[in-house]
Amino acid sequence: MKKEDIITLPNEHLRTKSAKVHIVTDNTRTLIDDMTAAALDWEDSRPHEISAALAAVQIDRMERVIIVRSDFDDKNTRDFTALINPEIVKFEGGTSKDYEGCLSVSKIYGKVPRYNKIRVKALDTEGNEVRFKAEGFLARVIQHEIDHTNGIVFIDHIRDETKAFYTLDDKGELQPLDYENDIKDNAVIWEQ
Ligand SMILES: [Zn+2]
Repeated sequence: MKKEDIITLPNEHLRTKSAKVHIVTDNTRTLIDDMTAAALDWEDSRPHEISAALAAVQIDRMERVIIVRSDFDDKNTRDFTALINPEIVKFEGGTSKDYEGCLSVSKIYGKVPRYNKIRVKALDTEGNEVRFKAEGFLARVIQHEIDHTNGIVFIDHIRDETKAFYTLDDKGELQPLDYENDIKDNAVIWEQ
């Protein structure tokens, strides 16, 4: 799998719910390998960005599977943790806003409110149930990815709230976009 296999808006699958995985099989594990390869190939093409995570829908597989980077701060650590049928069983600690981007939304960034702490339930690659707590950036990333499994893209939260969008310039700096002119009627990101 290559970065070209990652689908981007306005592909309607990104706004479609993915199906639950009933039995974790070798097919599921192959899917996870494909997702990892695509995420890393994308990252290798980007000087200023990291592939923090990916949902299966992003390689056009409508299954509730996500992968999350094991170390967000070190590009040399290239392994991911897979979560199958992930769900948030409890939100805690109020919300805060921070910048997000997405491999399926070209060149657009924005601040999204997310819960600071979550409790997560999922299956691992052997089909065993795992439960854990996450906070901070990890909690943010998992909420972003679980949104993908439900057909929600991060920009949907911004359109509903602040309407403050940004883009990345050649130096890797965020620069504000004009909602009325650059975003509001942009057919590349919104379905028409
Ligand atoms: Zn995303």
